[in-house]
Amino acid sequence: MKTNISLEETQQLVMQVAGAVGASVVPLRQAVGRVLAQDVQSPINVPAFDKSPLDGYAVRAEDTATASPDNPVVLRVIDEVPAGSVSNKVVAPGETVRLMTGAPIPEGADEVVRFEDVQETPEQITVSRRLSARQNIVPLGEDVILNEVVAHRGDLINASLLGVLASLGIAGVPIYDRVKVAIVTTGSELLDPTEPWAPGKIYNSNLYSVEARCKELGAEPVFLASVRDDKEIIANSLRDALDRADIVITSGGVSVGQYDLVKDAIEIIGAKTLCWKIAMKPGMPAVAAHRDNKLIISLSGNPAAAMVVFDLVAVPVLKKMSGLRNQLPVKITGVLADDFDKASPQRRFLRARLVPQDGAWLIRLTGKQSNGVLKSLVDCNLLVDVPAGSLPLTAGQVVSAFMIGEILSGPARYYY
Ligand code: AMP
Ligand code: MG
Repeated sequence: MKTNISLEETQQLVMQVAGAVGASVVPLRQAVGRVLAQDVQSPINVPAFDKSPLDGYAVRAEDTATASPDNPVVLRVIDEVPAGSVSNKVVAPGETVRLMTGAPIPEGADEVVRFEDVQETPEQITVSRRLSARQNIVPLGEDVILNEVVAHRGDLINASLLGVLASLGIAGVPIYDRVKVAIVTTGSELLDPTEPWAPGKIYNSNLYSVEARCKELGAEPVFLASVRDDKEIIANSLRDALDRADIVITSGGVSVGQYDLVKDAIEIIGAKTLCWKIAMKPGMPAVAAHRDNKLIISLSGNPAAAMVVFDLVAVPVLKKMSGLRNQLPVKITGVLADDFDKASPQRRFLRARLVPQDGAWLIRLTGKQSNGVLKSLVDCNLLVDVPAGSLPLTAGQVVSAFMIGEILSGPARYYY
C-alpha cells in the first residue's frame, strides 16, 4: 500500500483498476447524453445527390455564356420539381427546370439561378448575366461521405451528434451501459434529512451530494447506505455494495481516530488497499482499494473534502468506466481576482469560479475555504491548484486550476 502520494499518482493507481462497463444498442432517441461504444461509419452520402440550396431554376451554365443585360438569354421551362421529387427530364440546350430548395439537380443542368435573379413567366425565363457552373449547388457528400467515420468510440452523444446520426438513417446506437455506483456513508452522528434533528447529530449531506453528482455524470446509483461507526457493520455494507455495483464510494472514517474504521472494514472483506492519504488539502485522508476489478474509493467525511476528492479522483474513474475518452480534468491558468491570506505548506485546492469581467475571464474564490463549508462548492467550477510551499496568494497573481464544472455566465452567489 502506498501512502502520502500525489494526486496524480493516486489517479494513476485507480485508473489502472477501472475498466469500461458493458455496452448495448438503444434506439437513437435514448442515446442523448450517453457514450458511444463503437466508431460510427456512414452508410450513405449526405446529401445523397447534388441538390439545390434555394428556390430557383436549374440551367446549363454554358447556355448563359453570352448573357448580359443588353443581350439576355431566354430558356424554356420544361419541368417543376418540389423537394422530395425527382425530375425525369434531361435539361437540353435552351431549357431549364424550376426547382424548390432541396430538390435534386436534374440531369444536364450544372447550375441553379435564383428566382429573384431572372424574369419568369410560366413558360420561360430570361437570364441577363453569365453564370458559372456549380457555384450554387450543394454537392453530393458535402456534409458526410459514404464510409466516413463520423463519430468515435468514447464520444459523448450530444444533441448535434444525435442529429448527425439521424441524418445518416441510423436508428440504433451502440452505447455503454450506465456505471452502477454504490454509496456508503459512515458516521454514528449522521441523520437523514427526513429525520428530526437531535443533539450532537448532523445531517448527512455527502450521501445526497455524491449521489447527485453521480447522476449528473450519467452514472446510476444503485445502492445507498448510511451506517454507524462499527467495522463489522461497515464491512457488511461494503460486501452488499460490491455485490450490486461496479464501484463503491464511501465517506467518513478514514482518518486516524479511534472510530475511523473504514480501513479495517476494507481489510475484513478481503479488498486490497492501493493507497491511503493524498498529499493535498482538503481531502488528505482518502483511501483507494479494490476487490478484483471493483474499486472502493473512500473519501474523508468533511463535505467539502469529500467533494473535492470525488471530483479529482472519483470523477476521472467514473468517466473511464463509462467509456468516455477524455477523463482527467482540464488544467487551465488564469488570473486570480481575490487574495487568499493563508500560506500553503501542503498542496491546496481552492474552490473558485471562472467569472466574466470586462471581456476577460477571471478566477474568483467562491467563498470560505474551510473543510466543513459546503456553500462555496455551489458555484464552483474550478479548483485552484496551490503548490506546496506557497505563500498567501494575492489578487492579480497567475494560478493554475482544474476545471471541474461547466463554464457558466454570471457571478457566484457567495464570495470570499
Ligand atoms: P470523518 O471523516 O468521519 O472523521 O468526518 C469528518 C467530519 O465530517 C466530521 O465532522 C463528520 O461529522 C463530518 N461528516 C462525516 N460524514 C458526513 C456526511 N455524510 N455528511 C456530512 N458530514 C459528514
Ligand atoms: Mg466519522
